[in-house]
Amino acid sequence: MADLLLRGGRVLDATGSRDADVLVAEGRVAAVGPGLDAPAGSRVLDAGGCVVAPGLVDLHTHLREPGREEAETVETGSRAAALGGYTAVLAMPNTEPAIDGAAVVREVQVLGAAALCHVAVSAAITVGRAGERLTPMAELAALGVRWFTDDGTGVQDARLMRRAFEYASGLGVVLAQHCEDAALAGGGHMHEGEVSSRLGVPGQPAEAEELMVARDIALARLTGGRIHFQHLSTAGSVAMVRAARSGGLAVTCEATPHHLCLTDGCLVGFDPVFKVNPPLRTATDTAAVRAGLADGTIDAIATDHAPHTQEAKEQPLDQAPPGMIGLETALAVAVTEAGLRIERLLALLSWQPARLAGLSRHGGPIEPGRPANLCVVDPAATWVVEPARSASRSRNTPFAGRRLTGRVRHTVFEGEAVVVDGEARR
Ligand SMILES: [Zn+2]
Repeated sequence: MADLLLRGGRVLDATGSRDADVLVAEGRVAAVGPGLDAPAGSRVLDAGGCVVAPGLVDLHTHLREPGREEAETVETGSRAAALGGYTAVLAMPNTEPAIDGAAVVREVQVLGAAALCHVAVSAAITVGRAGERLTPMAELAALGVRWFTDDGTGVQDARLMRRAFEYASGLGVVLAQHCEDAALAGGGHMHEGEVSSRLGVPGQPAEAEELMVARDIALARLTGGRIHFQHLSTAGSVAMVRAARSGGLAVTCEATPHHLCLTDGCLVGFDPVFKVNPPLRTATDTAAVRAGLADGTIDAIATDHAPHTQEAKEQPLDQAPPGMIGLETALAVAVTEAGLRIERLLALLSWQPARLAGLSRHGGPIEPGRPANLCVVDPAATWVVEPARSASRSRNTPFAGRRLTGRVRHTVFEGEAVVVDGEARR
């Protein structure tokens, strides 16, 4: 593999920042310092005006393979991830079949081995994500699964969830929850509130999410276990996590780029591109999510990248599936909308999620000997989101046509420049 020199950037990681070049050789960072010479035959990539950071890590990616390859594959999703600056993604288990046994875990691991970023495989908490009996968690953990979730639905049965807590603690794996009380949320196509009333669309109340957050905080207290809440969307959820953590409980959480800036008002045109689960909430909720990101209550920005075909998304609002793509826009939406310094954003997008997911090859300090999983970001560049240019097989982005600030220039995955000047190299 040819050596690589990232020249003229500002190196930024959890230890701080300094103006330095970064030399990459044989998959690892070989040297960091000002004015490094490019070895003969090495490739020089311009990082002028850019931040050179550990690659981004997504805790919540739907790759749709196996079963829904018309919407996304491991390959296309990983290319979108690389273009978004990600060097690792956590693949969600709501595939068809669900990732709930050793054979499917191995299948996705094999597909992931050829991807443009690291594809970590999560597995379901319950068989078929049906909420009735636990998956063979020990067997799956032995295959390298460290993250368990029934994402797409929450585990409704508190007794079963208590047992999941106990197994997860013993195995040292993470339980992650899509918080949704199914009975209360049932039949809702958007947030229940003033806008849904005006539109005459059945909604799901904030309390459908908050009931499960409250229950799982209670179960964390009961079992002494830890829980990660996925894509929190309401002010009440953020407040409960803040209180639980100040009470010493092992609770972590993530929020999506869309929940920090889009509201239920986006649905006034009944456009299913804005239908997502959990739904877009109110301005009070987006403000609470931004405050939670700023004060450290929320540990990570996760995309919930959820590709759907045009046919599926062009159905009427009540029939279209929920979800929006996000890997290629997450960083820029965060830079544009979160109101946070780039240092804090990279913590939320890179090293904090890497630590939560136990991905030790990602998110670490940029220093000699470390695996070269890097992204080079121009924080001041502006660009317009053009869905037709997306590497994803799907086009369902709510940010189409929006001018965003912050652009990924290069992505280096295990020493290979997989994205150069904003273009994927394979
Ligand atoms: Zn979910």
